[in-house]
Amino acid sequence: MSNVPPRPSPARLAIVGGGPAGLFVAEIACAAGLQVDLFDAKGSVGRKFLIAGKGGLNLTHSEARPAFDARYRERQHDVARWLDGFDAPALRAWAAARGVETFVGSSGRVFPVDLKAAPLLRGWVRALRDAGVRFHVHHRWTGWEADGRLRFATPAGERLHAADAGVLALGGASWPELGSDGAWVPVLQAQGVDVAPLVPANCGFDVDWSTHLVERHAGAPLKPVVLHWCDVAGRARALQGECVLTATGIEGSAVYAAAADLRDAIARDGAATLTLDLAPGRDPDRLQAALQRPRGRRSIGEHLRRASGLDAAKSALLFERLPREAFEDPARVAAAIKRLPLRLQAARPVAEAISTAGGVRLDALDDALMLRRRPGTFVAGEMLDWEAPTGGYLLTACYASARVAAHGAIDWLAARA
Ligand SMILES: Cc1cc2nc3c(=O)[nH]c(=O)nc-3n(C[C@H](O)[C@H](O)[C@H](O)COP(=O)(O)OP(=O)(O)OC[C@H]3O[C@@H](n4cnc5c(N)ncnc54)[C@H](O)[C@@H]3O)c2cc1C
Repeated sequence: MSNVPPRPSPARLAIVGGGPAGLFVAEIACAAGLQVDLFDAKGSVGRKFLIAGKGGLNLTHSEARPAFDARYRERQHDVARWLDGFDAPALRAWAAARGVETFVGSSGRVFPVDLKAAPLLRGWVRALRDAGVRFHVHHRWTGWEADGRLRFATPAGERLHAADAGVLALGGASWPELGSDGAWVPVLQAQGVDVAPLVPANCGFDVDWSTHLVERHAGAPLKPVVLHWCDVAGRARALQGECVLTATGIEGSAVYAAAADLRDAIARDGAATLTLDLAPGRDPDRLQAALQRPRGRRSIGEHLRRASGLDAAKSALLFERLPREAFEDPARVAAAIKRLPLRLQAARPVAEAISTAGGVRLDALDDALMLRRRPGTFVAGEMLDWEAPTGGYLLTACYASARVAAHGAIDWLAARA
C-alpha cells in the first residue's frame, strides 16, 4: 500500500459562452490547472468571431494608450484597468504565439496577415481540447438550481452541472442567430443583478426616405463623405469615411463611429441630425462657381453631375432633400452639397447592430469581475456594460475582461482550496 496522499482533484470551472471571451478564460484557467468545462448554446463555438473574419478580423488597433482607452467612452477608466493586464500589443503577441502574424492597416487597424478568423479559431479550439478543456455544445444555459448547479437545456433534455466556480461570457444581443441573444438578462435580473438595457452600438439609423430613393438607391455606397454631428457633450464632431444608403435609412463604418452619440441623442430628443458633406475636400466657393456656369440644354441632373462630380446616389440624396426650385440657386445647391442634414428617427434594432451597449453594470461586480450577488460567478466580454466603436476595440476589451475574470476565478478558487 502506498503512503502517498491522493492528489487533490483540480477545482472545476464552468464557462458558459464560447465566444472569444469564454475561450480566453478557458485558456488561462486550464493553464492554471483548473478542470475546465465550456458550454455553448450553439453547435459550435466562436460563430461571431468567424463572422468578424469576413470583414478581415480586425483583431485590435495600433492606437497608443491612453487615446485607445478613450474609445470606451464613459467606461474608459474601468476598461483601462483591464487593458493594463492585456492590451493591444499583448493581443498581437498572443496571436503571433498561435502562428498568426498581424499587420497594421492604413487606418491603424490590426488584422491577421491572411485576414481570416477561421485558422486562428480552429487552432485555438484544438489547443484548448488538447490541454483538457471539455466542450459541451448544444447546451443552452437557463439559470441555476437552488444548490448552485448550472442548468442547461440540451437536445437530450435538461442537464445539471456542478462546478466550484463559473464564468459567464454570453455576449450581447446583436446578430442573435450567431448565439448571443441576450436571453440571459432576465436570468441575472432575477438574481438581483443590475443590468443596463441592451441597446444597439455600431448600428444604422432610420431615415424617412422616399420610395423612389429606396427603389433606385438602397444598397448604394456614399463615399467619401464627411459626417458632422454633435457628441453627448454638445461638441461638434466630424469624420470622413464611407456609409451606405439602405432601404430603411443609413449605415456603414462612418455611421457606426458616430452611432453612440446619435443613439443617445435620439433617446434624449426623439431624433438626431446627421449632416453630410457629399463633396469632401471641395472648396464651397469653387463648387458654387462651377454650379453657376450656364447649364445650356443639359438637364439639371447632368449639370449637377458635371459641376459637382457627385455620383448617382449622392445626387439622388440631394434631389431627395432639396425642393425643385432650389436647383435654380447655385449658392443653395453648393451649401446643401457641403452640409446636407438628415433627420435620424431611430437606431436600427440591436439584432442588426455590430455590437451591444448596456449589459451587466460594473457596479454589480467587484474588481475581479465577480458578481457581488453570486460569489464564485464571474462575467466577461460583451455582456458587460461597456461599448466601443469598431476598429478592433471590441475584441480587445473582450480578451482583456476575460483575463481579469479568469484570474479572478483562479484566485477565488485558490483562496478556498
Ligand atoms: C458582423 C460582425 C463583425 C464584427 N467584426 C469585428 C471586428 O472585426 N473586430 C472586433 O473587435 N469586433 C468585431 N465584432 C464584435 C465581436 O465579434 C464581439 O464583440 C465579440 O465576439 C464578443 O465576444 P464575446 O465572447 O463577449 O461574445 P460572443 O462572441 O457573442 O460569444 C457569446 C457566446 O455565448 C453563447 N451563448 C449565449 N447565450 C447562451 C446561453 N444562454 N447558453 C449557452 N451559451 C450561450 C453564444 O452562442 C456565443 O457563442 C463583430 C461583430 C459582428 C456581428
